[in-house]
Amino acid sequence: MSYERIEAALRDATDTRSVKIGAGALASVAEIFEQNFGDQPAVVVADENTWEVAGEEVQRQLEGSGRKLIEPYIFPGHPTLYAEYLNIEKLRESLEAHHAIPVAVGSGTLNDIVKRASFECERPYMNVSTAASMDGYTAFGAAITKDGFKRTMTCPAPRAVLADLDVLVNAPRRMTASGYADLLGKITAGADWIIADALEVEKISPKVWSLVQDPLREWTGKPAELQAGDQSAMDSLIEGLIMSGLAMQVHQSSRPASGSEHQFSHLWEMEGLGHDDDPPLSHGFKVGVGSISIAALYERILQRDLSKLNIEAICQNWPEQKEVEQAVRKAHRPPVVENAVKESLAKYTDADQLRQRLALLKERWPELRERLSTQLIAADKLRTMLQAAGCPTSPSDIGLSLPEFKATYSRAQMIRRRYTILDLARETDILEECVEELFAPDGFWARA
Ligand SMILES: [Zn+2]
Repeated sequence: MSYERIEAALRDATDTRSVKIGAGALASVAEIFEQNFGDQPAVVVADENTWEVAGEEVQRQLEGSGRKLIEPYIFPGHPTLYAEYLNIEKLRESLEAHHAIPVAVGSGTLNDIVKRASFECERPYMNVSTAASMDGYTAFGAAITKDGFKRTMTCPAPRAVLADLDVLVNAPRRMTASGYADLLGKITAGADWIIADALEVEKISPKVWSLVQDPLREWTGKPAELQAGDQSAMDSLIEGLIMSGLAMQVHQSSRPASGSEHQFSHLWEMEGLGHDDDPPLSHGFKVGVGSISIAALYERILQRDLSKLNIEAICQNWPEQKEVEQAVRKAHRPPVVENAVKESLAKYTDADQLRQRLALLKERWPELRERLSTQLIAADKLRTMLQAAGCPTSPSDIGLSLPEFKATYSRAQMIRRRYTILDLARETDILEECVEELFAPDGFWARA
């Protein structure tokens, strides 16, 4: 890993002050705790699995340093811990009985639970990662299900993060594969940001862009080695995931790490795809299939010469706000529908605004197409990379029927206000025909 890169990100991060990645890093846990929390007492929070993998050792190290410790809080190991608000309430009740600083020993879900519970007790916390499974360790906010609906709840990122490579390489391979897919999703996320920038919807911050995009190909270049348990490939992966989280902190938005591939994933997530599997279908696996889907769509769009758009014809058929709302209501069911209406209306553009945007697109298309081609990786190549890392790569692999999958292309556009390739395709009136091409007998998904 590159300390310079991490240090550069930490300089501008709002919550996280220290990151330690390395083989045998667990041995530094007491020292890092002290640097960040002085002489405050600590409480280890884990589940039965992560307690065994690293929690017990963290406890031993902290005890050995003479630190005052509260009895550890350990969630059951089975069934798989779920990011349900009830779990936050339980943990918060326990935390309220003392003033100790929580040390979350676990991966995504456990980290999210501790992140939010600590925030509700107005306390900072530390994370000891047990799997390179997603980029949420150093991100603000926690993905929590409350009243049956998954939402991102506000809360700061951990003050300190420690990742021991010896622990990470021994994590279940599917968790590593999930993290790889989440990281590889930054390719299409970056392309979406390039579009938003070119159309003056959302400017790229060059500093934040560099944190994730400059080393991205290096981080994601060794999927087979990663799957084989190689430590240096793991080092790259965890660095990439932690840097992605830090970039979101610096930018105060998930834009640097999440684009239309995540909209695919979020839609499937909200509709409960793979929820009842044991273990449940991971975030990263959905992002991986989303990334291939979006890369394939990009290929159809880059084939076209958008500098020849007929702007007047498009604007004449452009729907009114109430027609957009009707279409969203028709495409979605509860509990997604109300939120989708809100998000779609938030990014509604009237015909005049659209005319201006499309004029910009026409003018900038040759240069934009060039930038996008440089940024993107071919869908076929993405699939090979994900397969090498042990990830699912087709809709049927994740339990999705072809019609449901096909409909995702238009439905995912509606669930978030973030401007992506899905919006560009819709606004240029080519989304439908591009999707048809993808599913035609000689199209990408038929070949796949
Ligand atoms: Zn993600």
